[in-house]
Amino acid sequence: MFAYDPTNIFARILRGEIPNKTVAETAHTLAFHDIRPLAPVHVLVIPKGAYVSLDHFAAEASAEELVDFHRTVAQVVAGLGLEGGFRAIANTREDGGQEVPHYHLHILGGRAMGRMVQPE
Ligand code: 5GP
Repeated sequence: MFAYDPTNIFARILRGEIPNKTVAETAHTLAFHDIRPLAPVHVLVIPKGAYVSLDHFAAEASAEELVDFHRTVAQVVAGLGLEGGFRAIANTREDGGQEVPHYHLHILGGRAMGRMVQPE
């Protein structure tokens, strides 16, 4: 069900083929600034493993990867002063508006983020 394309842009970042502005890095996780920020803080947290989406990661990642990823989210939030709050978004496949097919969690903050989604 979850076919991973190793040519995607985040796989290339993980291989060091494309530079990134790293915020945090661990054995299993990388966090870096989004190239087109939509808020004063806009960081992407990605697993280093080949997972296409949140549901793929949640279903198949090891316990170690899952813990490491979420501890890194906490590290990013604390390190970038988002104690006042933030929004975490995981766009998933076509209906979710996902563009890059490597799981990434957007961490957006630094201002009031408004309503969750636009009403119909
Ligand atoms: P999606 O729509 O897949 O949830 O979000 C993909 C995100 O990746 C977008 O916010 C886009 O700005 C970001 N992005 C795309 N290419 C690059 C890149 O080469 N470097 C960085 N840092 N971010 C990227």
